[in-house]
Amino acid sequence: MAKQIAKISINTERIWSQLMELAEIGKQESGGVTRTSLSPEDLTARKLLINWMQETDLEVRVDEAGNIIGRLPGTDESIAESVMTGSHIDSVLNGGEFDGPLGVLGALEAVRTIQENGVKLKRSIELVSFTDEEGARFSASFTGSKGMCGLFGRHHLDEMVDQDGITYSQAFLQAGLNPDNYENARREPGSIKAFVEIHIEQGKVLENEDLSVGIVTGIAGPMWLELTIQGESGHAGTTPMHLRRDSGLAAAELMLQVEQIAKAYQGVGTIGRIHFEPGGVNIIPESASFMIDLRHADAEKRELMKSEIELALRNICEKRSLQHNLTVNMDIPPVLCSNMIVDVMEEACQELAYKPFRIVSGAGHDAMIMSNITDVGMIFVRSKDGISHNPKEWSSKEDISDGVNLLMQTIIRLASE
Ligand SMILES: [Zn+2]
Repeated sequence: MAKQIAKISINTERIWSQLMELAEIGKQESGGVTRTSLSPEDLTARKLLINWMQETDLEVRVDEAGNIIGRLPGTDESIAESVMTGSHIDSVLNGGEFDGPLGVLGALEAVRTIQENGVKLKRSIELVSFTDEEGARFSASFTGSKGMCGLFGRHHLDEMVDQDGITYSQAFLQAGLNPDNYENARREPGSIKAFVEIHIEQGKVLENEDLSVGIVTGIAGPMWLELTIQGESGHAGTTPMHLRRDSGLAAAELMLQVEQIAKAYQGVGTIGRIHFEPGGVNIIPESASFMIDLRHADAEKRELMKSEIELALRNICEKRSLQHNLTVNMDIPPVLCSNMIVDVMEEACQELAYKPFRIVSGAGHDAMIMSNITDVGMIFVRSKDGISHNPKEWSSKEDISDGVNLLMQTIIRLASE
């Protein structure tokens, strides 16, 4: 059966033209797209998507969290667990054309191709467009997928306010949704067998490897370490180097250690902001405060990275007679993709004659949230120059075609058993 299915291919021109049509909604003069959650632009886009889903003969509904869900019933109605696939169509301010829509329209194209070719699948497929993945309007992300996983409650909708003072509850009402029912969007574990999301990479790894697609093995959650190194200020001219307790130099030393530690664990570590006190050109810094953003797809390795940084900090401060303080400011656990789904994707790659390349996601996605209630898998498509959340965001038609064909083959396999 697998050999026969491998011959079917998605209609690249069709998904491309839909991607371009959707990108016109909220298009800015810069060429970027602004379609924040439940804004007039988002509501227009949602209507268009619902039309497209209905044209594809899916059973369409909007759940209590505003997630748009289109269902293709399976042949065996006794199987309760569906295969879910999708992403989001909201955007950041002045964002790109592919971040999110690829996952929704890619899923739609895959389902449409399955239908057109008369491929019958045992399990139902649910195509989902999640409400507010980006969090650009209300400063909290994943409102749709968190509702589906029971991670956000009714009260969150009153607490989140946009810059015009509109609460999420009000935005829900304006969109014809009842905020009081939000928690009913929760899905029981066991109602979804797997969630698969195709997304642009938003990084340069695939481009560097000269590959169109990658199989995501995990999503690296960020841990933020907040540090203060305390020394002694002094005159930049009169204090010889050996008599200084310079917190700035200690911070510099630690920064280079963070680079070494991140490389050793094949994770990433970033210090993007640093503050010296008192902050004068001719004053030895008394204190240095900064944050380290640490990411790894493997929680244990991320913990080891943190321990090594703590050790390095202690050693540096001891050597330089400085005090230090380190606290964990944010800790979002990394998520491992399901081995079963990764294996299915590898098999599909072989069938399609793609190199099965494994990659880690450095950014959060709805799949990360969905891992709370089901097995998840992700496919990445090459991003030109690794640029995203920017009008220059771009993925080629050919790469999108490869990615969506891989998505379709993955869904077929997951829904056949
Ligand atoms: Zn996205």
